[in-house]
Amino acid sequence: MIPVTKPYLPPFSEYQEYLEGIWKRQWLTNNGPLVNELELKISEYLGVENFLFLGNGTIALQIAIKALDLKGEIITTPFSYVATTSSIVWEGCTPVFVDIDPNTLNIDAKKIEEAITERTTAILATHVYGNPCDVEEIQKIASRNKLKVIYDGAHSFGVTYKRKSLFEFGDITTVSFHATKLFHTVEGGGVFSSDHSLIQKMAYQRNFGHDGPEAFQGLGINGKNSEFHAAMGLTNLKVLPKIIQKRKELSKYYNERLADLNLSRPLQNSQVEYNYGYYPVIFPSEEQLMKCVKKLNRSEIYPRRYFYPSLDQLPYVHSKPVPVTESIAKRVLCLPLYYELSFEEVDLICRLIKSVWMHG
Ligand SMILES: *Cc1c(COP(=O)(O)O)cnc(C)c1O
Repeated sequence: MIPVTKPYLPPFSEYQEYLEGIWKRQWLTNNGPLVNELELKISEYLGVENFLFLGNGTIALQIAIKALDLKGEIITTPFSYVATTSSIVWEGCTPVFVDIDPNTLNIDAKKIEEAITERTTAILATHVYGNPCDVEEIQKIASRNKLKVIYDGAHSFGVTYKRKSLFEFGDITTVSFHATKLFHTVEGGGVFSSDHSLIQKMAYQRNFGHDGPEAFQGLGINGKNSEFHAAMGLTNLKVLPKIIQKRKELSKYYNERLADLNLSRPLQNSQVEYNYGYYPVIFPSEEQLMKCVKKLNRSEIYPRRYFYPSLDQLPYVHSKPVPVTESIAKRVLCLPLYYELSFEEVDLICRLIKSVWMHG
């Protein structure tokens, strides 16, 4: 069976070493030494100042919205994982969808301003498949209209733009370390911000607002993560460059093998160092996509329709039509990509896809 992704598991002995430490200290959770170590190592790895490790990428989005005190309408993308929209609604705000750019598959910055009303407080955009949003244009729009900017960076761990971590843009960037993501801690996530006071506020918020055992600084929730999850992160972070390198080679191989088909790919930006978290392809039609999925499934290969349906279709939102998103969401497919995937398997996947073009 070839799934769309397989979580990387470190050699058991390396994880076990961390477990022995946990057993000795008997400190399992609540801002333990491994959580602190992971936060430091991640900041170092990315070259960013502040990072808080949280329970998952969804609580990260919710805490980000809370920390910025957002109310009213939040402009967002209909082409992302459901958590981007559900967090907005969960926090009592209204998502306002702006259609995507057909080349980058990110929110179309040119269409943001016409969606702003007097109730708009923020822009929450996803760097889809790790492809950076138009961060400069979005910042200009936000400054002009006094809006906050949150980036859902769930796909963009390790991505740089103009040699800087992509996480340095916006007021807050959130990330997910779920097992299906490029870098994972089984379950996990976090927030980045260059604003120290925001980081401090979110540090209280992730721990029920506790300011000592008997005092509270403000409203909080349980957004913490454990020593066991931090240990998985510490072992995985060491091999991340190797994982990214392999994924880069596999992606290049896919490119070569699929070059003669009329499949398109999100536009690559020359100022960006990618993380190769996903391998999305856009089919000429949904019919052709479905044929390929069937063909691959028959050989126990399971690509995923990330992201289908688009989020404007959710039963708890209202949206104006977003024709570009609708069209892309129907035709985009993420092909298998993970560390253990072999070049032979990529070959097989590409041969099966090509056979649909040749024989229908
Ligand atoms: C995975 C993902 C999330 C949610 O992260 P969890 O850690 O699973 O809660 C949010 N946004 C995007 C774009 C994602 O891909």
